Amino acid sequence: MQTLLIQGISAQNNYMEKIEHIGIAVKNITEANKVYEALLGIAPYKTEKVASEGVETSFFRVGESKIELLEATSPDSLIVKFIEKRGEGIHHIAFAVKDIKSEMARLQKQDFVLLNVLPKLGADNKLVAFLHPKSTKGVLIELCQEIDNS
Ligand code: ZN
Repeated sequence: MQTLLIQGISAQNNYMEKIEHIGIAVKNITEANKVYEALLGIAPYKTEKVASEGVETSFFRVGESKIELLEATSPDSLIVKFIEKRGEGIHHIAFAVKDIKSEMARLQKQDFVLLNVLPKLGADNKLVAFLHPKSTKGVLIELCQEIDNS
C-alpha cells in the first residue's frame, strides 16, 4: 500500500485510533438519560460514579463510538464550572490510543498543553489524560487507553 507523506506526516495515522466517545455535560443525568435513550433508541450500557472527578457518568454505544453523559456529584467538579460558563453541551472529545504515555510525550513535544503529568484512572475501564482547550482551538481533548484486564 502506498503511503502519502505530507510534510513528514503520514496519511496513515497510527496514533489516534478513533473517536472513542464524546462527553456531554448535563445538569441532571436521570433526565438526560431519558433524552438520549429516546434519541438513540437504546439504554445506557453502563453508569458509573468517578469519585476522583466528582462526576456520575452514563455511556451509550453508537457504532464504534460512544456518548458519555456527565453530571457533577460535587460542587468542586469541573462539570459545575463548565455548565455555569457555557451551559449544557459537548464537554470533550475522547480519542482512543494504543499507548497513552507515548502519545502524551508526542503531543507535549508539539507544544500541546497537557492537564495531567501521568495518565489517571478514568471511567469505563480506561487510563485517561486531557489536553487543555487553549492548545486545541477551544475543545477539551481526552486521550484514553483501554486497560487490559486479561
Ligand atoms: Zn470522557
